[in-house]
Amino acid sequence: MQKLFALVDCNNFYVSCERVFNPSLAGKPVVVLSNNDGCVIARSNEAKDAGIQMGQPIFQCRDLVSKHNVRVFSSNYCLYGDISGRVMDILSHFTPEMEIYSIDEAFLCMDGISGDPADYAHDIRHIVKKWVGVPVSVGIGPSKTLAKAAAVVAKKVSRHEGVFDITACAQDILSVMDVADIWGIGRQYSRFLRQHGIETALDLRDADDTWIRKNLKTPGLRTVMELRGISCIPLEQSQAPKKTIVCSRSFGRKVTDLDELKEAASAYVSRAAEKLRAQKSAASFIEVTLTEFPFNQGAPATHIASMDIPVATSYTPELISYAKALLERVYKKGPVYRKAGIMLSGIVPRGRVQASLFHPCHEGPREHVLMETVDAINARWGTGTIVCAASGSNRPWWMRQAHRSPRFTTSWKELPLVKA
Ligand SMILES: [Mg+2]
Repeated sequence: MQKLFALVDCNNFYVSCERVFNPSLAGKPVVVLSNNDGCVIARSNEAKDAGIQMGQPIFQCRDLVSKHNVRVFSSNYCLYGDISGRVMDILSHFTPEMEIYSIDEAFLCMDGISGDPADYAHDIRHIVKKWVGVPVSVGIGPSKTLAKAAAVVAKKVSRHEGVFDITACAQDILSVMDVADIWGIGRQYSRFLRQHGIETALDLRDADDTWIRKNLKTPGLRTVMELRGISCIPLEQSQAPKKTIVCSRSFGRKVTDLDELKEAASAYVSRAAEKLRAQKSAASFIEVTLTEFPFNQGAPATHIASMDIPVATSYTPELISYAKALLERVYKKGPVYRKAGIMLSGIVPRGRVQASLFHPCHEGPREHVLMETVDAINARWGTGTIVCAASGSNRPWWMRQAHRSPRFTTSWKELPLVKA
C-alpha cells in the first residue's frame, strides 16, 4: 500500500508561544533571543519583513528594533516546552503512529485515513489553533522527505492556507527547490552536489543511483528514493534513551570565584541528573568543562576534567560531589570564566547498575525515594521548587533573561491574571 506522511510544523514556534498569552503581539514584529539575550533565534513574519536576520546578535539590530518597534523576548523554554507538549498531545489523538521530530515538528502516519488527506490536515490545523492557539503548517507526501518539502510550500505560499499535498505535483515543486533545502542534505553535501551539476531537488531525484551510492552512500540514496516517492525512512516512534546528557550555559556575568562556579556546576548537575532519572538511567562517567573569556579575539581557553564513577548513579548529591571535586581540579584563580558545562555519560539502565566490591553504593532505596519525591514535587509545583542547597539561592551567575515573559503554564506564581 502507498504510504502517506504528514509533517506538522508550528509556525515561528517561539514567537507563536509568546503570542498565545499576549494577543497584543498579533501582527506586530516580535523576536525571541538565545540564552543570555544574545542572538535572534525566532522571528515573526513581520520581524522577517523588517529585515532582522536569523542568528543576528541583538545589539546589531538595535536600529531596526527601534525603527519598527520590534518586541524583544528572552527565551522562555519552560513555556515553549509546555506548549509543545500540548500540541503533540493533540496530534497524538489524530493518529497513534507519530514521531516527535523536534520541539515544534512531528511526522504523522496518514495511512488508511478516509477522505481527502488535505481536509484531514485542515482539521488538525484548525484544532491545534483553537485548543492551544499556535498556528501550524502541514505538508503531506508519500515519504517523510517529500512531506518535509511540502511543509515548506504550505508555510510560504499563503493561498494554500497552511496545508499542501505534494503527491500529485512533486515534479513541479522539486524543480524549483534548491538542493540545499532538501531534508537530510547538509550544506556540505549541497556544495558537493552543485559542483557536479545537481542544483535542484529534481536534479537529485533523477540522479544516477550508482553515482549517488558511491558518493553519498546509503543515506544519500535513501533520500533520493524518498524524493521519488518511495518511503525508506520509517517513523521513529520510541525515543531511545540518551547516551550522553549535557547541561551547559554561559553565565549572565563574568565569574572568577570558585564558590560561584561550584554553585553553577551543582545547578547544571541537578538538571542533568533529573533528565537522567526521567529516562530511568544512571551515569558512570562525568565531565566538567570550564571556559574562560577569550583574550585578544583568540579562541577561549577551555579546561576539562573528567572521572569514571565507581558505581553508576543518578543520585544528585553524589553527582554534585564529583562535579565539585572535578571543578577544583581545573579551577585556577585569576582567569575570568564565562561558561561552565556538565556532561554525564557511560549511561546504563538503572536496573542494571554493576555493583562494586571495592566501592560503596551511595544510592540505595532511601535515596531513590528521595529523588523520586523531589522530581515529583518539581514536576507538580514548577522547576526549582526544591533544589540542593549547593546550587545556591541568589545565583548571581544565572544567565541574563531581561525580557522573559512569565512562565504562564508551569509556575503557579506566574499564572495569567484575568480581571473581570
Ligand atoms: Mg517551525
